[in-house]
Order: sequence, then structure tokens, then C-alpha cells
Amino acid sequence: MTARILNGAKIRDSIMEELGEQIRDLKTAGITPGLAAVLVGENPASQIYVRSKVKTCESLGLHSEKIEWPADTSTERLLGLVDDLNRRAEIDGILVQLPLPPQVDSKAVLEAVSPAKDVDGFHPVNIGNLVSGRLGLVPCTPAGIIEILRRSGITMQGARAVIIGRSDIVGKPVAMLLLHNHATVTICHSRTRDLPAVAREADILVAAIGKPAFVTGEFIKPGAAVIDVGINRLTTEEEVRRIFHAPAAALEKLQSKGSVLVGDVQPEDVQEKAGAYTPVPGGVGPLTIAMLMANTVQAARLRRGIPSAKSAGR
Ligand code: NDP
Repeated sequence: MTARILNGAKIRDSIMEELGEQIRDLKTAGITPGLAAVLVGENPASQIYVRSKVKTCESLGLHSEKIEWPADTSTERLLGLVDDLNRRAEIDGILVQLPLPPQVDSKAVLEAVSPAKDVDGFHPVNIGNLVSGRLGLVPCTPAGIIEILRRSGITMQGARAVIIGRSDIVGKPVAMLLLHNHATVTICHSRTRDLPAVAREADILVAAIGKPAFVTGEFIKPGAAVIDVGINRLTTEEEVRRIFHAPAAALEKLQSKGSVLVGDVQPEDVQEKAGAYTPVPGGVGPLTIAMLMANTVQAARLRRGIPSAKSAGR
């Protein structure tokens, strides 16, 4: 059996197109949704993420502001900045890029963001909204996973869904969203007993672990939909040989690019056993920024009491 590839880039493109239309409508009504991205320090990966978020805003016609502060910024100053952004009418979404430098109390900063502008969906109020099924702002990667399933015609209602990973930003919120979509949900973690057997019960298997190719063929029920959230970079020939059964193409990539990206799911096994799967790269990754944009538009609507198109991931 050859599994269907769930193409995240294609799904992202159609979401962006729909968002473009919604933004044009809002602009006709005199509203330009705005996002402020706060970057503290010089983490190169964070710089790339923030740049690409701001660029995506621009391409959609959203107002965006990039606020870059030095690595030695104090918690107090950051709280002052967040307070200022909370008050500014033209800012609908505030994104504080993580990780923050070690001297900053990240939790205090994230909790200072007004829940109405919390486009990452990390504020306890939004977590409460998510759990109780109220309209709110939903974390971006989990919302993107639901969009992939829904837009690929994968039935969630009544399905057995198993999630490996219980983090606050992926595992727990995706479990809640699957539950709201009427799946029967099991959350697994590092203490789960006989994990492969639990995973094999899944019609929908979500891997959010952070360990390259951890999920092998023995975890996958034939025909299951497998969503691979992991992003792991392999940089040595030894790692590539350990992970790939037929490593030739990956070794070539390692030589030409210096690294090979793999998810938390063994890429050859999933092709063979699953019914459908998200590849890495090109699966879940592309949806995350699209859902951030969707949340910014949603925040602009909610703040003004304009009926929402639909809450992301619901
Ligand atoms: P965390 O490190 O916060 O959580 C990992 C989870 O995996 C934990 O719940 C942990 O269990 C579980 N786990 C670790 N080892 C095992 C094991 N041996 N058996 C079973 N469970 C295990 O990771 P995140 O949720 O933040 O991210 C997961 C992956 O997704 C990472 O690769 C990350 O890079 C990627 N990611 C991708 C995004 C995207 O846009 N595509 C966005 C966000 C993350 P326990 O709680 O017991 O320790």
C-alpha cells in the first residue's frame, strides 16, 4: 500500500487565499488587522521565524510591526512593552517569540498579553476557552493539524485518535481539538506502558515528541492517518544511516545541504503502512504561520464583536 501524502504547503495556500478575501472584506469596512512581533535577543532561528511571520503579514495586507530588543532586556521592561501593545488600538495580535533570554520571566510576560490579543493561544484564559469549547484563540500548530485533517477529508468523528506527547503547545491542545471534533482521544507520554500497542489502536496518530523517527512501523495501524509534528535536524552520516533503511538519498542531501530534516515518524515505514501522512518537511510546518495569520484576523473580529468566519481548528 502506498500512503497518500497530506501536502501542508498546498493546504496553507488555500487557507491564505481565503484569509486574503476575509482581510479585503475587513479593510472595506475600515479595519486592517495588525500583528506586533516581539523579538528579544539574537537567536538566529527566532530571527528567521519572526522575519517570515512579518513577511507573511505583509503579503496578506495585514499591518505588522517587528519590535526587536537586546538580549539583556529585563522582565520589567518587557512587561511595560506588552502593556503598551495591549492598549494600542491598531494592534490586534501580540506575538512574543520564544525562547526569551534566561533572565526574563517568560511565564509572567506571556500571561501579561491580553487574552484578546494572544494570537499564540498560550494565555490561561484562552486555554480555558479551548478546554470548555468557547470561541477564542487556539494555539497555531494544533489548529493547523485540525485544518489538515478536515481539508483532507479524514473523518475525526468517532475515530480513535492517539497523540504521543503532552506538551502545552502541541500535545494537550491538539487532544482537546480532536475531542471537540468528536474523536475518542488517548494522550501518551514518556511513562506510557507499551506505547506501540496503544499507538496501533489509532485511526489518527499524532506524533509530537521531538525524537527523530521515534515512531516506527510497529506503532502504525495499517491505513491510519499519521500526523508528524516533529522537526529534527540530522547532521551526521551515522545518524542518517541509523534512521533510514535505504539511506542513499538522505546521505546525498546531507552532503549537499549539511543536514537532513526528519520528523518524529520513520519516513519509510509511514509510507508503507499508513493510509495518509504528513511529510517532514512540507506537512504540519507550513500551517503554523497560516494559523497565526488566521488568529490575527480572528482577534481583530472578536475585539470588535464582528461575527467570526470560524474559530481556527474548530
Ligand atoms: P516537548 O519536548 O515539550 O514535549 C515532548 C513530549 O514528548 C513530552 O510530553 C514527552 O513526554 C514526550 N516524549 C518524550 N520522549 C518520549 C518517549 N520516549 N515516549 C513517549 N513520549 C515521549 O515538545 P513539543 O511538543 O514542544 O514539540 C514536539 C516536536 O514538535 C518537536 O520536534 C518540535 O520541534 C516540533 N514542533 C513543531 C512545530 C511545527 O510547526 N511543525 C511547532 C511546535 C513543535 P513527558 O511529558 O512524559 O516528558
